[in-house]
Amino acid sequence: MREQRISGIGVSEGVRIGSALRYSPVPAAGMEPERESIGPDEVTAETARLRQAKEACASELQAMVERTKRTLGEDKAGIIAGQLRFLDDPKFYPAMERKIAELHVAADKAVREVTEFYAARLESMANEYMRERAADIRDIGGRLLSSLRGGTSVRLSDLREPVILVADDLAPSDTVQLDPRVVLAFVTRVGGKTSHTAILARSLGIPAVVGAGDALDAVRDGETLVVDGGAGLCVRNPEAAYLRQAAELQEQERELRDELEAFRFRPAVTADGQRVELAANIGTVPEAEAAAHADADGIGLYRTEFLFMGASRLPDEEEQYAAYRQAAEAMTGRPVIIRTLDIGGDKELPALELPKETNPFLGYRAIRIGLDRPELLRTQLRAILRASAHGSVKIMFPMISSMDEWRKAKGAAHEAMEELRREGVDFDRNVELGIMVEVPSTAVMADSFAREVDFFSIGTNDLVQYTLAVDRMNEKVAELYDYFHPAVLELIRRVIEAARRHGKWAGMCGGMAGDPLAAPLLLGLGLDEWSMETGALPKVKRALAQLNAETCRERAQHWLQLATADEVRRELERFRAQLPG
Ligand code: PEP
Ligand code: MG
Repeated sequence: MREQRISGIGVSEGVRIGSALRYSPVPAAGMEPERESIGPDEVTAETARLRQAKEACASELQAMVERTKRTLGEDKAGIIAGQLRFLDDPKFYPAMERKIAELHVAADKAVREVTEFYAARLESMANEYMRERAADIRDIGGRLLSSLRGGTSVRLSDLREPVILVADDLAPSDTVQLDPRVVLAFVTRVGGKTSHTAILARSLGIPAVVGAGDALDAVRDGETLVVDGGAGLCVRNPEAAYLRQAAELQEQERELRDELEAFRFRPAVTADGQRVELAANIGTVPEAEAAAHADADGIGLYRTEFLFMGASRLPDEEEQYAAYRQAAEAMTGRPVIIRTLDIGGDKELPALELPKETNPFLGYRAIRIGLDRPELLRTQLRAILRASAHGSVKIMFPMISSMDEWRKAKGAAHEAMEELRREGVDFDRNVELGIMVEVPSTAVMADSFAREVDFFSIGTNDLVQYTLAVDRMNEKVAELYDYFHPAVLELIRRVIEAARRHGKWAGMCGGMAGDPLAAPLLLGLGLDEWSMETGALPKVKRALAQLNAETCRERAQHWLQLATADEVRRELERFRAQLPG
C-alpha cells in the first residue's frame, strides 16, 4: 500500500512514530438508548449474549493478569486477579442471568442494575477496603456492558505498550487517563482546536490531531503511523524517506525540549527586567504538583469539573475540600484560582442528567447551572472557602454574561462565607472573587464589572467562539477560529484597561496566553497574569526573555489597528524574526 497522508487539525505539537491502536470508549451508563426488556422467547438468546460477554471479559482480564505479572510484578497482577474473581462470585453474575430469565430484563439493563446494587452495598460498608471494591465491581460492569455493546474492550488505563490511539472522538474524561509514556499520540475523526480534549493533550504533552475525518476509518490495529501534531498530519504506511524525516524531527524536538529545560527554573523576566507573573492551568491535583515542580507562579485556572466528570456521583463537600486543599498546599502560598463548575458545552457530567440541547455552548452551561442549582454551587463554594485556610485561594466564576449573574454568584459566595462564620469554620476572610471574561457582553461592559470584581481572567477559548460565532469544537470552521482577530484583540484591550483604571488586575487563562507569538502583544497591552498549560511555561519564558516591554507597548498600538487576523499574525512574525537571539 502507498503512503497516505490524512490531514486534520493539529492541536498538540510533536512528531511521533508508532503502532496504531483503535479505541472506542465504553458508553457511559445511561447515555445509550437501550432496550429495557425482552420477550419470553428471547431469554435463551439474551442469556447467551451475556455469557459471551462474560467470557470475553474473563479472557481479557486473564490476559491482563499475565501482562501485568510481566510488566509490574506478581503483587500488582493480584489486584486484577481479584477483580476477575468477582466474575465467579456465586451471587454477582448469576443475579444477572436470573433477571433475564425471570424478569425478562434486557442483558444491558441486568448488568447495570446488578452492578449498581452490589457497588452501592459495598460503598455503604464500614470497612474501607470493602468500600474501595465498589470501583472494581463497577469496572467489571463497565467491561461487560462494553462487550455487550460491541465497543472494543481496550481500556485506556490498561495500556502498557506504546501506541498511537485512533478514535472517533475522545471525551475529556478519556483523555485525562492517558499516560504519555504509553500513548505516544492520538488522532480522532472529529473535534476542534480548543476542545477540552485538545487542551488536555497539550497539558499532558501528547501530540494530537483531531478532525481527521472518515479517512481514519481504514486504519487498522498494529499498522505504523506517523503523527505530526504541529502540521495536523497522520501518515499511514510512511515511505522510508518520510520515516527518516519524522525520526529527525522527533530528535530535534528532544533537543528543543532540552533547550527549553534551561528556562524551566528561571523566573519570567523581559529583556528590560520586567517580571511577568506566569501561572499554570490545571484540572487535577497531580497537575498542581507538576505546576509547583515546574516553578509556576501560581495556578491561574483550576478547572474543577474534572473532579466531577470522572465520578458516577457528585463529589461531596469533603471530597472537594480535600482536592482543593491539596492543590492549595502543593502551591505553597502561591495563588490558586479555583473556578466553579464549568459543565455543559463539550463537558458532560454523568452524575447530572443534563438535557440534550441544540446549541450546548449557548445553553445550560457553567455559572448558569450553578445559579439554577444553588445546592451544587453552595457545596462547592463551601469546599473552596474551607481550602482557602490552607493557601492563597481565589474564587472565579465561569461564563459570566451579565452583571446580574455576577451579583448572584457573589451573593452565593457571601452566603457560604456567612454560614462558615456561624459554624466557626476557618477560611480566608479576604478571599478574592473574580470572573472569567469569555462572553463579549462582559468584555464590552468591563468598566462596570471592574468596579465590583476583584479580578478578571480572560478565557480566549470561549471569547473567540462567542465573538466570532465560530464553534470551538467544529472542524469545518476551525480556519475561522483565531484569537488574533482584531475584534477579539479589541475586547482584550478593553478588559485590561478597565482593570487598570479601577485598580484591579487582569489575567488570561485561555490558549492565547500560552502562545509565544502572542507574547509581545499581551505584554504590550499590559496583561498582569498569564496562565497556560504547564508545558507551555518554558516557551513563553523564553519568548519574554527576548522582549522589551517598552517597545511592545508602543508596537501594540499599531497591532491593534490592523484589519485582519492574518495581518496581525504576519506583523507579529516579522517582529519576532528581528528579535535578538
Ligand atoms: C476559556 O474559555 O478560555 C477557558 C480557559 O475556559 P475553558 O477552556 O475551560 O472553557
Ligand atoms: Mg471557557
